[in-house]
Amino acid sequence: MDIDDLAQRIQSGDRRALARAITLVESGRADHREMAAELLDRLAGSGRQALRIGLSGTPGVGKSTFIESFGLMLTGQGLRVAVLAVDPSSARSGGSILGDKTRMERLSRDRNAFIRPSPSQAQMGGVARRTREAIALCEAAGFDVVLIETVGVGQSETMVAEMSDLFVLLLAPAGGDELQGVKRGIMEIADLILVNKADGALKETATRTCADYAGALRLLRKRAQDPEGFPKAITVSALEEHGLERAWDEMQALADWRREHGHFDARRAEQARGWFEEEVHLGLLARLERDPALKARMAELGAAVAEGRAAPARAAAELLAALEGR
Ligand code: GDP
Repeated sequence: MDIDDLAQRIQSGDRRALARAITLVESGRADHREMAAELLDRLAGSGRQALRIGLSGTPGVGKSTFIESFGLMLTGQGLRVAVLAVDPSSARSGGSILGDKTRMERLSRDRNAFIRPSPSQAQMGGVARRTREAIALCEAAGFDVVLIETVGVGQSETMVAEMSDLFVLLLAPAGGDELQGVKRGIMEIADLILVNKADGALKETATRTCADYAGALRLLRKRAQDPEGFPKAITVSALEEHGLERAWDEMQALADWRREHGHFDARRAEQARGWFEEEVHLGLLARLERDPALKARMAELGAAVAEGRAAPARAAAELLAALEGR
C-alpha cells in the first residue's frame, strides 16, 4: 500500500480512499498499525478542522431519522458531513444496532456526505482508538462536520463525549417517570438535549418533556466552558424537519463561544494529550503480548494476584522490571 498516495487522495476528498484508510485503522495487525500510524502522521499537518459532534440516544429515539434530516440540511448549505457510528453492542455480539445498511439512505447517496457504520469485528479496547483515528481521517479529508453517533449503552457515551467538541443527547417525549431514567452522568456531559418527535399527537408531550429537562439542566452546576443558557434543551422533529436549523444554530453558538474563550482549543489539546498517553499504554501492553516469555510471566503474576499471593502493585512492578530488561 502506497501511504503517500493514500494520504494525497484522502486530502483531495476521495471517499473511497477515506473508506480504505478507515479499514486500515480498524485493523489490529501489527503491520497495519504501523501503516496507520504513518498515514495519520502524514495527515496531521493538514490544518483542517471539523466540528466534532457526539450524538447519543437509545434505539428508537430517532437517531437515523435525525442524522439524515440534519445531515441533508447541512449538505444543503454546502457543508460536507461525515457520520461515524460507535456501537459497543456490535463488538460484543457481532450484531450491530447501528449497522443497518438501509439507514440514512438519502444521506448516503449525497456526494457531500460520508457514512461509516460501526465495524462488527472491532475488539472492545479498539473501539475508542478506531473512532478517534477515523475522526482524524475525516477531518483531513476536509469534512466540515463529523457526527459521531452512539447508542446509550455502557461506557460508549462517555467515550464519544470525550472525543467530541459538542455532545448532543437525543430524547423521546415521555412521562415524568422516564425523566428519572436518564442517568445524571449523561445529563452532565450533554451540551444540548434535543427532544425529538415534537410533532402530531406527540407535540404537547414533547414540549412538556423539554421543559422538564430544561429544569433538570438548570439544577446542574454551571460549567466554566459554557455561556449563559447552556446546557440547553429544545424540541425538534426529525421526521417533519422542524427545529433542525435552531439545533444547528445552538451548536454553532456554543462552539463559537468556546472558541472565543479558548475552551475549544484547550479541550482539544487535553484530548490529544490523553490519546497520546493511551497509545503509550496500549503500546506497552502490545509489547508484553508480543513477547512469549513476558506474556507467560504476565499470566503467572495475574494468577498470583487473583489468588491473593501477590499484591497488584508489586506484581506490576515486577513485570515492568522484566520489560525493561528486554
Ligand atoms: P434510531 O433507532 O434511534 O436510529 O431511530 P430511528 O431513526 O430508526 O427512528 C425510530 C422510529 O421513530 C421510526 O419509526 C421513525 O420513523 C420514528 N421517528 C423518528 N423521528 C421521528 C420524529 O421526529 N417524529 C415522529 N413522529 N417519529 C419519528
